[in-house]
Amino acid sequence: MREQLLLLYELQEIDSQLLVRSERLKEIPVKANEIKAELEKAQQALRGAQSREDEANRDRRKLEQDLAAEKEKLKKWEARLNDIKNSREFAALSREIEGLKRQNRDLEESILQKMQAAEDASRERAQHQGKVDALQKEFHARDTEAKQASAAVKAEMDQAASSRQSVAGKVKKNLLRQYEYIRDHKGGRALVLVKDGCCLGCHMQVPPQLYNELQRGDAVHTCPMCQRIMFWEPLAQRTVEEQAAAHA
Ligand SMILES: [Zn+2]
Repeated sequence: MREQLLLLYELQEIDSQLLVRSERLKEIPVKANEIKAELEKAQQALRGAQSREDEANRDRRKLEQDLAAEKEKLKKWEARLNDIKNSREFAALSREIEGLKRQNRDLEESILQKMQAAEDASRERAQHQGKVDALQKEFHARDTEAKQASAAVKAEMDQAASSRQSVAGKVKKNLLRQYEYIRDHKGGRALVLVKDGCCLGCHMQVPPQLYNELQRGDAVHTCPMCQRIMFWEPLAQRTVEEQAAAHA
C-alpha cells in the first residue's frame, strides 16, 4: 500500500504541475488581448475621424458646385441688368442681385467652415493613425511572444501528461478513481502529507487513533476534515529512500 500511496504522491506532483501550467496558459494571452482591445478602439476612432474628414470634404465640394452655379446665375443677371430700360424692373433685379450676392457670401463662409472641419478631422486622423500603428506593432510583438510562450508551456504539459500516464498506469483502478474524484472536488489536491499529527491539506489535527493507523501505511486513510487521502510524511520519505535504494 505504501508503494501505491507513493505513486499517488507522484501523481499529485504531476497533477499540481499540470494545474499550474494550465492556469499559466490562460494568463499568457491576457496582455496581448488587452492591447488588441485598445487597438480596436483606436481603429474605431481612426475610422470616425476619417469619415468626418470625408464628409466635410464631400459637403465642401457640394457647396463649391452650388456656389459656381450661383455665380453663373449672378453673371447672367448682371448682364441682363444692362439691357433693362424700365427703372422699376431695374430696381427689382438689383435687389435680387444683392440678395444673390449675400447668399453667395454665406456659401463662401460655409465652404470655409467645411475646409476647417476637414482640416481638424485630418489632424485627428493623423493622431489616431499614429496610435493605431504603434498599437499594431506592440500587439504583434506581444502576440508572437504569447504564442511562443504558450507553445513552450504546452510542450511541458505534453511531457507531464505522458509521465502521468505511466504513473497512473501503476495505480490500482479503484484507488485512481478515488484519487481523481477527490482531486476534482478539492481544488486539484487529492493527496496530502501529514506532518506532526497535522493534515497539511486543511491544517487540522488528525485524531490520535487514526494518526496511529496512518503511520503504519498499510491502508488508505482520508482526512476526516478535508476528505483528502493522507500520507504520513516520514513514511513518504522512507518509501522514497527505499525505492531509490532498490533501483540503485
Ligand atoms: Zn485534511
